Amino acid sequence: MRKKIIAGNWKMNKTLSEGLSLASEVVNIANDEVPADVSVVLCTPAIHLAQVSAIVKDSETVSLGAQNVSEHESGAYTGDISADMVKSVGASFVIIGHSERREYHFETNAQLAARVKLALDKGLTPIFCCGESLETREAGEHVDFVNNQLKESLFDLSAEEMSKVVIAYEPIWAIGTGITASSDQAQEMHKSIRTSLAGNFGAEVADGISILYGGSMKPDNAQELLAQPDVDGGLIGGASLKSRDFIAIAKSY
Ligand code: PEP
Repeated sequence: MRKKIIAGNWKMNKTLSEGLSLASEVVNIANDEVPADVSVVLCTPAIHLAQVSAIVKDSETVSLGAQNVSEHESGAYTGDISADMVKSVGASFVIIGHSERREYHFETNAQLAARVKLALDKGLTPIFCCGESLETREAGEHVDFVNNQLKESLFDLSAEEMSKVVIAYEPIWAIGTGITASSDQAQEMHKSIRTSLAGNFGAEVADGISILYGGSMKPDNAQELLAQPDVDGGLIGGASLKSRDFIAIAKSY
């Protein structure tokens, strides 16, 4: 059975005290209300990780993730964060290749491949983001575009390594826009991602990989998206900043 994962991406929001309050609220509500087969992940700003780690450490439901990691082990990379550092504060997940980082920081598929590999080597679970722009979708090239992202960043992994990766399909036109992919559009792409993974790594590996949907997921649309057979959870931006909305999504399963 695939893991069901609801991950919150706080992006560059919340001061430390606001973040600690939000994390405490999420942990308290999640421990009582989220079904045991759903894992909740908080991907906080890097500067909050160590202190949020203390809040989530005794929770069986909630774990911690970073929003990015360097492809370098250590050294003269001012402002960057290494996989060892992320691991050392108690985080177990890391988002890699979010479209905002691809766009504003010019992250390439090759660079992301190196980050995924290093994160895995260090025992972190990458949440690898992929997804097309509106222009690409309207040109009918969305499936090929996403397949190419997977190919260039993931297909050199071994099957064992790949089985430890979580994928988040996030159509760029749906992120932070209030426009959600329809459940049919999400299912079509998730199925195509799984087929592509099966072609490269085998059906058994592909069937075990959690593929999350991201893009304006909210309590009122989560249930329909999460009901799709190939949608195994969500990566939530805006709605993860309110504990009740975030947990309501996790309870939608
Ligand atoms: C995201 O940034 O990963 C995201 C899905 O954002 P939002 O939910 O706000 O669209």
